[in-house]
Amino acid sequence: KEQNKMVELEQKLETFADIGGLEEVKKKVKLDFILPIQSPEVFKAYGKELSGGLLFYGPPGCGKTFLARAIAGEIHAHFLHLDLPSILSKWSGEAEQNLHEFFEDARRKTPCVLFIDELDAVGGNRQAMNSHHERTLVNQLLMELDGTKSNNEGMYVIGATNTPWYLDPALRRPGRFNSLIFLPPPNLDGRKEILSIKTDGKPQEDLQLDLIAKYTEHFSGADLEYVIKDAIDLAIAKAFETGEIQPLTNQDLLTSMKKRQPTTLDW
Ligand code: ATP
Repeated sequence: KEQNKMVELEQKLETFADIGGLEEVKKKVKLDFILPIQSPEVFKAYGKELSGGLLFYGPPGCGKTFLARAIAGEIHAHFLHLDLPSILSKWSGEAEQNLHEFFEDARRKTPCVLFIDELDAVGGNRQAMNSHHERTLVNQLLMELDGTKSNNEGMYVIGATNTPWYLDPALRRPGRFNSLIFLPPPNLDGRKEILSIKTDGKPQEDLQLDLIAKYTEHFSGADLEYVIKDAIDLAIAKAFETGEIQPLTNQDLLTSMKKRQPTTLDW
């Protein structure tokens, strides 16, 4: 327990309480992923066990990374973020080596959630994939993932992509990224909850979050976070002008909301 606490302090990971909306997703992830990790004996009694990793997809800014971090927070594990494009190298062989080292590092840091972002950057089943270079990198990734069952004990892999339909089918086979989960843009209730979480504890005055939620259809969680950040900047500016702490107002939220365009529509 002591050790778990240290991991939390070190990484300040989120938990499910920090996620607004996504009720169905949270329920599914809890049942299919978190509980089998926390209570494997219950699942074993029914002949079930955790197999393979989750694959998140959906428009940008709708919580793929955030949810992966929160899962790590829930199970008190380290969170390791692998940004695939960043390990791609023009030198043949170097990217595979980078990938291998990343997995080796993860194996030393168990329990850990290994989050692989932009999977389609290497696992995209497109023409570019025909290049020998990309093929060998995907093969290396498959090899590392298949190790998950034996020497990858305590390493929980979650992948993310905005375009799952481009993924190399080999990555979707059982035991790999077999559980596909869609993270949609937040609905009305979800937006209200996200706004409420992001304004919680800040000086504020009669915020009508229902109203802001209504006006922000198609906004992602990230878009809403920006609205709140900009509104807070307005309140801070007023605080400096007047020389005293000023509450965040509805007007601040409306002003900053009008400056933002929703980003989930282009997806
Ligand atoms: P990308 O595809 O661009 O990588 P993503 O889906 O991984 O996007 P995140 O990085 O998870 O998006 O989200 C960006 C930020 O938006 C998060 O740091 C978080 O603060 C906020 N956010 C997104 N969705 C939610 C949510 N459901 N509840 C609370 N905050 C959210």
